[in-house]
Amino acid sequence: MVTHSVSIIGAGPAGLMAAETLLQAGVQVTLYDAMPSVGRKFLLAGKGGLNLTHSEAASLFLSRYGDSASWVEPWLQRFDAAALRQWADALGAETFVGSSGRVFPKEMKAAPLLRAWLQRLRSQGLQLHTRHCCTGWDDAGHLCFDTPKGPVQVEAPVVILALGGGSWSRLGSDAAWIQWLGKRHVQMTALEASNGGVVIPWSSHFSQRFAGQAVKTIAMQVASDPAWRRGEIMVTDTGIEGGLVYALSACIRQQLREQGHADIALDLTPDRDVAAVEKAVSAPRAGRSWSTFLQRQLGLKGVKLGLLYEVLARDAFDDAAQLAQTIKSLPLRITGLQDIDEAISTAGGVAAENMDENLMLRTVPGVFCAGEMLDWDAPTGGYLLTASFASGKVAAEGVIRWLASQSAAVTQE
Ligand SMILES: Cc1cc2nc3c(=O)[nH]c(=O)nc-3n(C[C@H](O)[C@H](O)[C@H](O)COP(=O)(O)OP(=O)(O)OC[C@H]3O[C@@H](n4cnc5c(N)ncnc54)[C@H](O)[C@@H]3O)c2cc1C
Repeated sequence: MVTHSVSIIGAGPAGLMAAETLLQAGVQVTLYDAMPSVGRKFLLAGKGGLNLTHSEAASLFLSRYGDSASWVEPWLQRFDAAALRQWADALGAETFVGSSGRVFPKEMKAAPLLRAWLQRLRSQGLQLHTRHCCTGWDDAGHLCFDTPKGPVQVEAPVVILALGGGSWSRLGSDAAWIQWLGKRHVQMTALEASNGGVVIPWSSHFSQRFAGQAVKTIAMQVASDPAWRRGEIMVTDTGIEGGLVYALSACIRQQLREQGHADIALDLTPDRDVAAVEKAVSAPRAGRSWSTFLQRQLGLKGVKLGLLYEVLARDAFDDAAQLAQTIKSLPLRITGLQDIDEAISTAGGVAAENMDENLMLRTVPGVFCAGEMLDWDAPTGGYLLTASFASGKVAAEGVIRWLASQSAAVTQE
């Protein structure tokens, strides 16, 4: 039997930030991870350039967390985008602001940052046990791990769980914690794919011809929300994915929950109003094919034309008003979310009502949670990593306060 001051389970961004905060405060930390090496999802995020955070104004930044903004706000007050940039810079991973306002390390990858970070943590005394898969608590209250050498029990009165969400399970975050936290009466919201693709039942002709193609410079609207957002999407075999889908993910999920489908509209020419589009398509076609004519009049070609042919009957092209309306508001029906395991992140998880302001579980004193396993959600743009880091810091500072309160109680006795 081993006794540690503080055990952290999960060595992703949230767990590592919690470890750093505790080590800097002089607290002994033992960090466990199920995988043979740490931060695997973080490293994968690095393959897309590692969008660490965003440079936009704090109020806009906070609004990205939607319904969970009030929960996330104090975390960001503690560790915001600017603090995250300073932290990365100090680790030698100097950051820059891209043209979209997103913040990346100059090297556009995660490995150098993670390497430097682990080196610093080890020099601060981090004890790390990989290949330790936590399976919950036994009847005596010990934390149990499956390891290559067999089961291990650890006495761990103070624990931070930073076990990630439920996507890309092959990288370690398999959400198995839902089972064993449920046994401790922790309330959780079901996990759902967020920042993932959505299902649209394309014709086989359309998906064979256009899967893998980006639809750029468009705007998109979910029927329940009048706002149009500009950006781009990617056509997949079975639907669409990409920045615009992720930005509207929460709205789409709500529609799917409420009515079993979500209706969206695409504006294929967001820089022209419907009157201008109608005028353009009313011009004489002079024997040209629709494809040649629409490319010439509006620059519509390739996948954008394919979308028009997908939703509009051929004879409807002769009705200029209907054609213009469809170009400006092309209707598509989303019938589901793509596989949760392929999503960039998951929404749902340990509910806010369970936790105090230090991110300690009310029903399990001494157990804190951080990162994507908590029930908050955000689109891509650096918001996922920022809140994961920030919540790791808040949980660790909560632990420090908890340890102090426990010592004070013992002294008074
Ligand atoms: C393809 C992709 C690209 C992404 N790009 C970005 C991006 O550019 N910007 C951004 O902000 N976000 C991005 N994300 C999301 C971001 O990586 C995650 O939100 C973030 O890693 C969550 O951090 P976390 O520490 O909460 O969880 P994770 O990073 O998932 O870490 C959890 C850790 O817990 C361990 N673990 C789980 N269960 C157990 C167990 N039972 N016992 C022991 N250990 C366990 C896992 O092995 C893992 O190491 C991306 C995600 C993906 C999949």
